[in-house]
Amino acid sequence: MITLALSKGRIFEETLPLLAAAGIQVTEDPEKSRKLILPTNREDVRVVLVRATDVPTYVAHGGADIGVAGKDVLIEHAGEEGDAGLYQPLDLNIAKCRMSVAVRADFDYEAAVKQGSRIRVATKYTTIARQHFADKGVHVDLIKLYGSMELAPLTGLADAIVDLVSTGSTLKANKLVEVEQIMQISSRLVVNQAALKLKREPIRALIQAFESAIPK
Ligand code: ATP
Ligand code: MG
Repeated sequence: MITLALSKGRIFEETLPLLAAAGIQVTEDPEKSRKLILPTNREDVRVVLVRATDVPTYVAHGGADIGVAGKDVLIEHAGEEGDAGLYQPLDLNIAKCRMSVAVRADFDYEAAVKQGSRIRVATKYTTIARQHFADKGVHVDLIKLYGSMELAPLTGLADAIVDLVSTGSTLKANKLVEVEQIMQISSRLVVNQAALKLKREPIRALIQAFESAIPK
């Protein structure tokens, strides 16, 4: 049995064509079913639905053999637990967005950086944010949040946020402006290193099929 860990929503949706290329169809709709383990047309393949941030944990510890996770999630996971046991053979070029710094339109970010003032930054992505500001030599106080980062500058909790941006419409709706792009983000295939040895052939076949179907 091969167990594939996916998160509901965009990663699940954007992984379906890659699975199709491997001859795998998920036979139940996660938006309609309450099941957390979804069967497929192949008796030897099943999908487990987990939170996006839990995908690396499931795969690293063998709760799943393979998984799909965003680069953001993988960097944060490695920052907390290291990346032992996780093999990352493919960038799938799906669930694309970017990690950016955003501030209130009336906050002069460039001036704050130039003056060397401490900047209060709210984010869910503390590893990426810490590294980014350390590279720039900017002193920051990081405030860890688990969601709705946009609210932080609007309430005075923080001067800036580090968050994922795709179209920018959420920032715009909250009168925030993107002042820096930290990195481009896409989702990667992650494989449990022990599973790669024990289930070598089926996993290699899956990696090859996924590779052939990566969107340009
Ligand atoms: P949860 O919603 O369970 O708190 P999450 O917000 O991390 O977790 P998703 O919103 O499904 O989960 O995002 C999953 C992954 O998709 C992210 O880790 C990121 O790599 C990517 N992603 C997030 N937001 C966007 C976006 N606006 N556009 C494209 N890809 C995105
Ligand atoms: Mg989300």
